Order: sequence, then structure tokens, then C-alpha cells
Amino acid sequence: MGRYLSSIIFMSGILLFVSCGNVKNEGKNKIEELIQQMTLEEKVGQMTNIGLTAVCKGPFWSNADSLEIDIEKLNKLILKYHIGSIQNKGKYPPTKEEWYNIISQIQDFTLEKSRLKIPILFGNDGVHGANYTASSTLFPHQIACAATWNAKHAEKMGEITAYEMRASSIPWNYAPVLDISLQPLWGRIFETFGEDTYLTTQMTNSFIKGSQGNSLSDNTKAAVCLKHFIGYGNPNNGKDRGTANIVENELRQYYLPPFEEGIRSGAKTIMINSGSVNGIPGLVNHHLITDLLKGELEFHGFVISDWDDLTKLVYAHNVAKDNKEAAKLAVLAGMDMCMVPYNESFAIDIVELVKQGEIPIERIDDAVRRILKVKFELGLFEKPYTSPEQYPLFASEEFSNASYEAAKECITLLKNENETLPIDKTKKILVCGPTANSINFLNGAWSRTWSGQEENYNDTNKATILDAIIEKAGKNNVHYGQGTSFTEDINIDSTVFLSQECDIIIACIGEKPATEKPSDIEELELSEVQLKLIKNLAATGKPIVLLLLEGRPRIIREIEVLSKAIIMAYLPGQEGGKAIADLLFGDCNPSGRLPYTYPRYSGSILKYNYKGMDAMDKEFSLGGFNPQYEFGEGLSYTSFEYSEPTLSDSIFSKGDTITIEVEITNTGEIFGKEVIQLYTRDHFATISPDIKRLARFKKIGLKAGESKSIKFKLSTDDFAFVGTDNKWITEPGEFSILIGGRPSELQTKSFFLK
Ligand code: BGC
Repeated sequence: MGRYLSSIIFMSGILLFVSCGNVKNEGKNKIEELIQQMTLEEKVGQMTNIGLTAVCKGPFWSNADSLEIDIEKLNKLILKYHIGSIQNKGKYPPTKEEWYNIISQIQDFTLEKSRLKIPILFGNDGVHGANYTASSTLFPHQIACAATWNAKHAEKMGEITAYEMRASSIPWNYAPVLDISLQPLWGRIFETFGEDTYLTTQMTNSFIKGSQGNSLSDNTKAAVCLKHFIGYGNPNNGKDRGTANIVENELRQYYLPPFEEGIRSGAKTIMINSGSVNGIPGLVNHHLITDLLKGELEFHGFVISDWDDLTKLVYAHNVAKDNKEAAKLAVLAGMDMCMVPYNESFAIDIVELVKQGEIPIERIDDAVRRILKVKFELGLFEKPYTSPEQYPLFASEEFSNASYEAAKECITLLKNENETLPIDKTKKILVCGPTANSINFLNGAWSRTWSGQEENYNDTNKATILDAIIEKAGKNNVHYGQGTSFTEDINIDSTVFLSQECDIIIACIGEKPATEKPSDIEELELSEVQLKLIKNLAATGKPIVLLLLEGRPRIIREIEVLSKAIIMAYLPGQEGGKAIADLLFGDCNPSGRLPYTYPRYSGSILKYNYKGMDAMDKEFSLGGFNPQYEFGEGLSYTSFEYSEPTLSDSIFSKGDTITIEVEITNTGEIFGKEVIQLYTRDHFATISPDIKRLARFKKIGLKAGESKSIKFKLSTDDFAFVGTDNKWITEPGEFSILIGGRPSELQTKSFFLK
């Protein structure tokens, strides 16, 4: 306890000083004035975040298709318990006008009736667009955004999501997800930017730029919430919220940089991992939250727990005997706001704990100061809600085009034997499979509802894959048979029969939308019945184009060999159907690249930057890395040739700039986009080095026959790793730079570092 107390008091002093330097004087004075006037109860209320339905008529988990504010509940939660933050929604997605109606009522009530008139901070998950507002623009999920290898799409997604959330009076977004996942079983991979630290870091920077812009008081910008700090994406058991074991030097090297980038880019809030790292639940990890995040990384925003995590500390993590003890541990570890979310219990417990001397008031003041600062920066004191009419671009064509562009660039062509694709529009086509005819399977979870499975909230003007293919090829050329659901044979036989009349089969398979616990799976293999559909179709001898719509890489080994072409579409969002059809018929040229390693066997899981020893096979040679597809893989309808790269020197000293240059030529007959990937390799180090590591990338467009010279500059720090002392170090020795457009075609240039 002594250590907690002294470091908390020290931290609050520092933070007061630093945060005061960062906010405008006016805001700073107002915050300090407010804190001085606030009672303990009012302070603790600011630290409390509840679910919207806790202030609405009816039960918390209501199935109603409308929400009505309950004044009695507002009286209790806002006036008696001084709750400062509300989030989420009921079952259905309100329109932006309904959001305005709901949030303006809450804000007006708070500003009129509460003593200090501190506006409510309303938050929501806008993880691929303002997905909890009816008819908003839905983007490809983050994993697909990463697959574009074009950070401009992350920026657009951040910008449009913020605009449409603000159009719904919601200024705070629980995104982006910065978890690095090395565990293909984990069901939330689709919410991340993939397995690579550098790619994630680039996307993070751009997403935040788009979402927060230059000033949060701009009513088209929203504060981001980086989540889930830290290690959430790598559960040992592959299940959501499972324990991860990550030694600190690896945590700092692979998992921390995206959060560091997020803080550098001005992120205002961070959500804590519900699971645990090395047995310590994220929410009670003083070392990670207070020492590392707020201390070393100088994060001056506020830290929020994940949903209902205090109770999990009691009944699942078993580190606290009751919720009160859990609340104490979390606040002392550095949690500033608690996503309770059902009621005022946290506020009651914390007030008691402070009165009992268990939590110092300085820790409470520190948390409140951080929260108020964000409310000020968002301009909520002047404008606690925004009028939906001021957002003419909401769900506009311009916005759906941005989503379409991202979808077009994410889709990744993984196989194209004998140039099966693009398809001639006059061919007779069979479209089949469980994901062919529903926009739910393009959008995935977090689409209008949490699970994304309810069809009645879908936008009726959006095309499924089947719709979009019919639109291109004409009704007469397209047959449709579902074949299977995800788990059952619907009409495999008749679908196979239909294929006899066709020239080519487009088989759309994948996963049912799900997130968090419901996304847990027992095995990485696709369901038997989907494999059966493909096997039976293959027996006809007709060429199969396999289209994958899945949140994580499911094993396709057996059907890969039966397919002539394979397209990974991830969860490409609302415009995905159209983008897929454009790509199938050659109206656009694929340019997506895998943002993760696609495993061939569920028992052989290695990420692309594995350690040499992990690839040792039974013959003691190093050929044991044999995924279905490597990180960075992706084909095009055109071809690119690389010149031999040139390196600025062959011997460098610490601090030098290392320049590498290469010329790329489009040697095919159509325009195409190429991703130039640059990896580094340390040949020998005191900690077994990664076999290669992504250090730069650039996506360029080239007309047929066009060449471009591309130069990358690296510093010697780009070759550093985190040693066992948890510090970054670049050791002298031999290094290589690997450069090229596909993992199997990289060219190597080596040099020595003195
Ligand atoms: C999820 C978070 C999300 C929160 C609020 C949690 O269960 O893990 O990612 O932001 O709910 O919806």
C-alpha cells in the first residue's frame, strides 16, 4: 500500500503540472475551480460510466425497438450519484435524430438540474463506422483496413466515423483496437490491424489523425479510445479474455509501440484489457497502468475499464473478494473511469473507500482532472450535443464511396491459377455458399447490433455479393444455390446439380458474425459442411473461385487445392458486395495484402516474424515455416518487376541514415497497385532475432509499362530490439534489408553496423 500511495501522490503532482501545461489556461482554471467545488460524491460520479439503458424505461437488457428516458432513473443516477459518463445503446440502432433526442434530454437534464452543470461524456463503439447509428456508413473492419496497406483508408475511416458519431451527438469513440494478435483462434482479430506492430502503428496514427483532427472542439471530430491495454489479443487458450504470458521485453517490443504511437498522436483515452498478463488482470496492474502508461509514456488522458470488469476481478480472475475490493484495486492501479455499467455500485464503494482512508483523495482528484480535461477539450461545456441537421454528409454517397474504395483495396487475391480471374461477364456463373447473399456477413459483428446478426436492421439499399454479381453479369447468366448454412446442409445436392449448367462456380464461405465471448471457437478448421459443399462442387470439374468472408484465418488446406482462385474478402463492410463483384469481373485490380499469417495447419501456428528455432523441422533444417499464405501475400491481375535494390553503403555507424532504392515496373497490360514491403533482419543478436521484421511499406499505383523509383530511409534504430533490461538496443553486426512485393520474392541487401 505504501508504494501505491506514494507513487500515486507523486504522479498526481507531476500530472497536475504537465496537464496544466497542455490545456488552455481558461480550461485549466475551470478544471481546478471545479475540483475545488466538488464534493467527494460528485468527484466519484465523474469516474462512473453506466450503460444508456440504466437511465431508460424498462430493464437494462431490453428488447424494445425504442428507448425512452426515465426521469426517475436520471434523478437517481445523475442527481444523487452524479454519474458523469454514459455509453452504449439498447438492442436496436437509433437514427441520428433519435440519438439527438436521447442525448439532448440527458444533457439538458444534467445542465439544468445538477449543481455543477458538468456535461455527460457519452461514448460508444464506432469500430468500423458509426455502427450503432441506423443507416450510417459502414466501413470494412480494421483487419480489412490493414489489408489495404494504405493508411489513407484508416484516416478516412477515422474521419467519417467521427463525423457520423458527432452527427449522433456522440463525441467519444471506443476505437481503434490496437491489440496485436498472434493467436488465430482469437475471435476479435477482425477488430485489429493484424499481427504486425509496424503496420498497426501506421494505421493507428492515421486513424487518430482522421478522428481527432487538429481540435476536438471541432464538432466533426471525436476523441478516440485506444483499446485494450495491453496483451488482450494473445490469450494462451485462444479464447476471448484469456490469460496471456508476455515477458516485459516482448511486451515493449511487439505490443506497446501502437499504444505509444496512439499517445504521441494525441489519444485522449485508453481502455484496459479485461484479461490478464502473467496472471495479473489488466485492471489491477499498477505497473502497466500507472508506472508505464501514465508515468513512462506520459499519458495525460484518462483510463477506463472494460465492460463490467470489476465483477470479473471477483468471480473469474479471483483477485478480489468482492466488488468493493475490486474497485479499490482498480482505482489504486490507475483506473480513472469504471465502465460499471449497470448501476451506481462503483460510486458508492469508492466514496466509502475514500472515507475509510483506503484510497487517497489525490488519486480521485487525479482521475477527475483527467476526465474533466477531456470534457473541456471536446467542447462539451459549450456544446454538450450537436444537431443532426448540421451533418449533411451523413450516409452520403461521398462517404459510401470512401468505404467502397477501402473495400476495393483490402480484398486480397491469394490464388489465381491459369488466370481464372477476372471472369468474362458472358460466362454462366453459379453463386453459392452461406455468405453469398447477406450483408450481415459482409459487415460482421458491431454492425447495428453487437452481434451483427439481426437482419431487420440492415440497410436495404446495399448489395450482397449475389446482388452485385447479378448486377454485373445479368440475371440470365447467374444461378444461385445456398448449398449450406454455416452448420447445416441446406441444399448441397441441388446446388451441385445447378453447377452442371455453369462455366464457373463462385463459392462464398466463412464465419458467422460474432465478437467477444460468442466468437470463441473450438477449432480453427472451417465447419465440415462448408468443406463438403466445396468438395462436392469440385467433383463436377467446374472451376471454383473460393471467396472467404471471415473474421480470422480458418483452415482451408483441403479445399485450397480444389479451388482455381481464392479471394480473401475479410469483413469488407457495406460496399463489400460491389467491390467483390468489380474485382471478380476485372473492373478493378486487386491490391490487398494479408495483414496476418494464414496458417495451413491448426497445430502449426507461427507469425511471420518467428524466431529461427521455431522453424526447425524433423530433419533439423529450418524449413518448418509453411503457412498456407504468408503475411504480406497478395496477387494482382498485372505483374511487377523490381530492379536490383541499391544500398547507400555497406558499412554504417550508429546514428547513420541507411538509404535503399529500388525501381518497380508494371510489366503487365493494365493499371495496378503494388505494395512495396521492406523488412529488416538482424543476423545475430543477444536475444534470438526475428527472422524478419516489417520496417517500411509503400503502396503505389503504376500504369501498364510505367516505372517508379522508390527510396526508403532507415535509421540504425530501425534495427533495434528490446533487451532483457527492457531497453531498446541496436547491437553492431551484420544486418539485411529485404525488399519486394511478395514475401516469396524479396531481394536482400546486407550491410555491417560498426
Ligand atoms: C468490449 C469493448 C467495448 C465495450 C463497450 C466490451 O465488452 O470488450 O471492446 O468497447 O464492451 O461496448
